Amino acid sequence: ATLVLTLLLSACGNSQSGGDTNTVSNGKNCDNVAVLLPETATSERWENKDKPLLTAAIKNAVGKDPQFYNAEGQADKQQNQADTALTKGACILVVAPFDGQAAAAIVSKAKSRGVPVVAYDRLIQSPDLSYYVSFDNVKVGEIQGQYITEHYKDYIKGDNKNVVMINGGQTDNNAILFRQGALNKLQPLFDNNSLKKVYDQYTDAWDNDKARTEMDGALTAQGNNVQIAYVANDGMANSVIASLKAKKLNGKVLVTGQDATVAGLQNILLGDQMMTVYKAISKEAQATADIVKAIKEGTDTASITKGATTKLSDGNTAIPSILEEPVAIDKSNVSIVLNDNYVTKDDLCKGL
Ligand code: BGC
Repeated sequence: ATLVLTLLLSACGNSQSGGDTNTVSNGKNCDNVAVLLPETATSERWENKDKPLLTAAIKNAVGKDPQFYNAEGQADKQQNQADTALTKGACILVVAPFDGQAAAAIVSKAKSRGVPVVAYDRLIQSPDLSYYVSFDNVKVGEIQGQYITEHYKDYIKGDNKNVVMINGGQTDNNAILFRQGALNKLQPLFDNNSLKKVYDQYTDAWDNDKARTEMDGALTAQGNNVQIAYVANDGMANSVIASLKAKKLNGKVLVTGQDATVAGLQNILLGDQMMTVYKAISKEAQATADIVKAIKEGTDTASITKGATTKLSDGNTAIPSILEEPVAIDKSNVSIVLNDNYVTKDDLCKGL
């Protein structure tokens, strides 16, 4: 009986793939790709940009629409969605994790079924991870910090030089990298007393409402004496601006952001937010599709990653990576986003 079972197993390929009629191994010949996104509410990018761009690019690469899931900010939900995707025969997973540590369980399960995982935008702390496609996220933070170092003098006055740092969600590796990049630029100014850091917190799940509460609290604690708000993305910046508006301080405080969202760009044009960071998601989606295609066709991926790697937090494992370049945007160069068709003029000017 054992012999028969062994023969059956080898004849039928992956025995654990539950419902999978494809006999695929390590993504070879795979056209059933699943994309797992982390959230909807934290940034309009996931549903408005990543989803359509990844759909088009992956369909073009493998000939079939990918399966889509959104974890709505819940790590366990994302785990269940990965299980569902595997049950439905997904043979390559593209995962933007809600929680970069917890998602290691998704990677090991996928690996045990011969399914490679590409971490999309956010790193997953798993040595079994196959690829990582994102932007240079330390550079994103450095661009934000650099803007502050170049413009803070227009906002401070004497001893009134208080900086609030409202960072992203700590389960997102990017939030840590953005803060690190910002501090690369700001720490020297804190050290030499040019600026004073009065608040520096991660914001659970990038929750925009929490960012509002944080800014309200920081303003109250400082008796409204805040000159700079380092805010990690446009969604939270919009909440910070609402908090400032309630005190008639909008436009007087330097506010940063990220994502070049329509609302963020409008806040820049209105003078309430001073900068954002544009990340060409079309490039990120295309790079992901290029990797998926190479996995499917079993071709060399080194020509795509060009030998680049990213180290996991264990300090050892190096994951083959593609990291695109972020771009600084302020009121002087909003045209970059328009020329790239990231945002249309109609959308940008709606309601202004
Ligand atoms: C992304 C940002 C986004 C944030 C919140 C980060 O991982 O890189 O673009 O604003 O998550 O969704």
